[in-house]
Amino acid sequence: MNDHESFDPIGAPELPHDDFRCGLVALAGRPNVGKSTLLNALVGFRLSIVSPRPQTTRHRILGIATSEAGQILYVDTPGLHRGAKRAMNRSLNRAARSAISEVELIVQVIEAGRWTDEDQTLYDALVEQKVPRLLAINKVDLTKDKSAMLPFVSELMAKHSFDDIYYVSALKEKGLKGLEEGILKRLPVQPPVYGEDEVTDRSERFLAAEMVREQLMLRLDQELPYATTVEIEQFHERPDGMAEIHAVVWVERDGQKAIVIGQGGAQLKAIGSSARRNMERVFERKVFLKLWVKVREGWVDDESMLKKFGYE
Ligand code: GDP
Ligand code: MG
Repeated sequence: MNDHESFDPIGAPELPHDDFRCGLVALAGRPNVGKSTLLNALVGFRLSIVSPRPQTTRHRILGIATSEAGQILYVDTPGLHRGAKRAMNRSLNRAARSAISEVELIVQVIEAGRWTDEDQTLYDALVEQKVPRLLAINKVDLTKDKSAMLPFVSELMAKHSFDDIYYVSALKEKGLKGLEEGILKRLPVQPPVYGEDEVTDRSERFLAAEMVREQLMLRLDQELPYATTVEIEQFHERPDGMAEIHAVVWVERDGQKAIVIGQGGAQLKAIGSSARRNMERVFERKVFLKLWVKVREGWVDDESMLKKFGYE
């Protein structure tokens, strides 16, 4: 054996076995079809925030699912947003496009029984990508009469091409195994990129901000959540083993600040305690969370403020 053959560069990736698959997979779909719920179910952690409102997901987030068969890196994309006028929507559209151009496989997620113009527009854009495309028909738990699905699917298939179709319920965690197998067998044989116990590329700091934002989406009415963002000012480990987190909720106007705080501080307290409980579950330790509400006029339209708040 000469020197060359025995040379093993540090960190050289190794295949766990001959048929180990790994690759980047986009979960694509119009707002509200259940992409974030699906990502969380596939990864087994609530990484991506979920609410009944469209445009909940603002950031690209990677969810990592490692099994004996391979490692799937799911990208939950913010949907393509209408109204490219506001700087934030433009930033979201850029994030969605660049996420999709890098992947090895695309799962288009739709709602059972519905194929809208927005689904079609997205389909037309995705067909351009020369990678396998799967269709995940989500929310099948809402369809009482399963036979009603057949005409819907056969009409869909007559006009569209997918490499395979899967029926799933992200909420009830049904049909996920089949989808996972369908994805894995179409990914290239290559070594894992992340360690087997890693579940996301995002920091706890980032996830903490998202978990506060999730509560804003769930608890505030109408347009208000879209005028808020969350900044983590401090995140440190205390000697007693707790994570101490200081978060600022930014709003655009004084009136909004009063609403976020609520009567006698009740709203902010409720936001804080729900967010804290979710953090404790994902971070697997006790959390001390302090929340402030501050006003910054016009942050939603200001590119430099968006950068500060982490919208690339
Ligand atoms: P996204 O905008 O595509 O990321 O969608 P979300 O994951 O935020 O989900 C939007 C809404 O649909 C939330 O209220 C979810 O609870 C709900 N949802 C997601 N998946 C399912 C499902 O399989 N069944 C039902 N009934 N609701 C679901
Ligand atoms: Mg989402």
